[in-house]
Amino acid sequence: MKLEHFGYNDNIEILRIQHNLLNFEIGRVISEHKERYIVKTEKGEFDAEITGNLRYTANTREDFPAIGDWVAISEYGDDKVLIHSILPRKTIIKRQAVGKHGEKQIIATNIDFAFIVQAIDRDFNINRVERYLTICNASHVKTIIILNKIDLINDEALTNLISQVQERVKQVPIIAISNKSKKGIEKLKEHIVKGKTYCLLGSSGVGKSSLLNNLLGRQLMKTNTISTSTNKGRHITSHRELIVLEDGGIIIDNPGIREVGIADAVGGLEKTFDKIVELSKNCKFKDCTHTIETGCAVVAAVESKKIDKLFYENYLKMKREQEHFESTVAEKRQKDKNFGKMVKQFKNIKKSNRY
Ligand code: GDP
Ligand code: ZN
Repeated sequence: MKLEHFGYNDNIEILRIQHNLLNFEIGRVISEHKERYIVKTEKGEFDAEITGNLRYTANTREDFPAIGDWVAISEYGDDKVLIHSILPRKTIIKRQAVGKHGEKQIIATNIDFAFIVQAIDRDFNINRVERYLTICNASHVKTIIILNKIDLINDEALTNLISQVQERVKQVPIIAISNKSKKGIEKLKEHIVKGKTYCLLGSSGVGKSSLLNNLLGRQLMKTNTISTSTNKGRHITSHRELIVLEDGGIIIDNPGIREVGIADAVGGLEKTFDKIVELSKNCKFKDCTHTIETGCAVVAAVESKKIDKLFYENYLKMKREQEHFESTVAEKRQKDKNFGKMVKQFKNIKKSNRY
């Protein structure tokens, strides 16, 4: 398989030249688990590790490879490769790591489009759609909303639902499908462009695996990392986090993509809730929180039903989460700084004791 088949293009080649990486082979990271990676190259799929240099110069999670990355590699042993560097990323989808303050997890990189999958049954939740949109907007990933399981409702209910979504979400294609009746699947396929990378976002049970199987036209085995290394065996089969469709689209399906937090989606919030940003220019106070202030144009618009109350409430909720997130990051930085100071003082004491 050629690199182009799993997403390589001229822009990446230019980056490779700019970064003096022509002496290295190129591959794409298709799996990552605790600093062990699987890299797909034109020759096959390889276990990979990063070089010591890459590890020691790394400051944050973003300095380590992630699923979707293009990496410069060299062969190392029989069925292993070493990752020397990561080519600059076009997009990064992040989320706040659960339980760890201020640390962000990278879900995937170099994604062109995200399918935001929602089932139209009782799990349907437009706030969640806005949440995913915000994350994608922050990382400049384009979005397509997929309403799944439309076999469960009649046409009238579907039309209602679509206009409800359209009311809140502007300028994002909405495609209604059923994995069961296969309605809408062909239409969705028309949106999939050769050489572009896609991912599926959505809670468990909305139908992501079923959709993947339908796009693929066959059942995808639900298996984990079973390395079937033969003697020379460079092949790791049964492991699929990067899937190449027949029509040339590439799908990254990462088990880590489930419930997502808001992370540092600053620009994302503003784009998703641009109506509110626009209105806020007319608020009386520059630092208006759009809650209790007099002369708040946003509250006025909610009261006169110019904007949806639920849309407004979701905005406030996500903004609060973001502020909370930012303050925990700031707190952590302060703690790290204090700790750094302490270490420095300790070293100084040691130094002065020497004399
Ligand atoms: P995932 O967790 O998002 O990957 O969801 P799955 O693809 O595993 O689907 C969850 C459940 O929803 C399974 O029982 C599927 O059979 C069912 N399901 C998926 N798509 C549809 C659909 O279009 N219509 C109906 N009625 N059920 C569906
Ligand atoms: Zn206001």
